[in-house]
Amino acid sequence: MSVTDELYQQVILDHNRTPRNMRRMEQPTHTACGLNPLCGDEYTVYLAVGADGLIRDASFEGHGCAISKASASLMSLAVVGKRVEEARALFEAFHALVLGKGEGGGQACDLGKLRVFSGVWRYPARVKCAALCWHALKGALDGQPTTSTEDKL
Ligand code: ZN
Repeated sequence: MSVTDELYQQVILDHNRTPRNMRRMEQPTHTACGLNPLCGDEYTVYLAVGADGLIRDASFEGHGCAISKASASLMSLAVVGKRVEEARALFEAFHALVLGKGEGGGQACDLGKLRVFSGVWRYPARVKCAALCWHALKGALDGQPTTSTEDKL
C-alpha cells in the first residue's frame, strides 16, 4: 500500500468514526433518501438552499458501512458554501472519480479531500457505497424523494 493510499484510508476511517454533519435538519429546503440494497446503506440527505442558490447547510442521517458514512460526511463538508450548479458539477466529477474515469471526468472541479475515494473503482462493490450519498444529493436537488443505487451506477 502506498503512502497516499494509507493517508486516504486514514481520512476515511476518521470520517467514519467521527462523521461531520450527521444530524437531522429541522427545516431543509431539499431532502432525499438514498438506498444501497447491496450493502444495506441507507441515508437521508438534507440541504438548506438560500434564495440566492447558495447551499447554506448540508447534513445527513442514517446508517451504513464505513465507506458510505465517510463519503456522506465529506460530501456535506464539500457542498456547503457552493452554488447548486457547483454541487451538481461536483457530483459529476465525483462520480467520474469513483468509476475510475479519471479525476473530474473532464469537469473543471476541485475535488479536494474527495480524492480519498480515487482508488475505490478497483472495488466495484464499494463504488455504490461511495456514490450513494451523492445520488441522494442529486435526488434532493431534482425533487426525487428516494434514490436507489440499484437503478444506477
Ligand atoms: Zn456500503
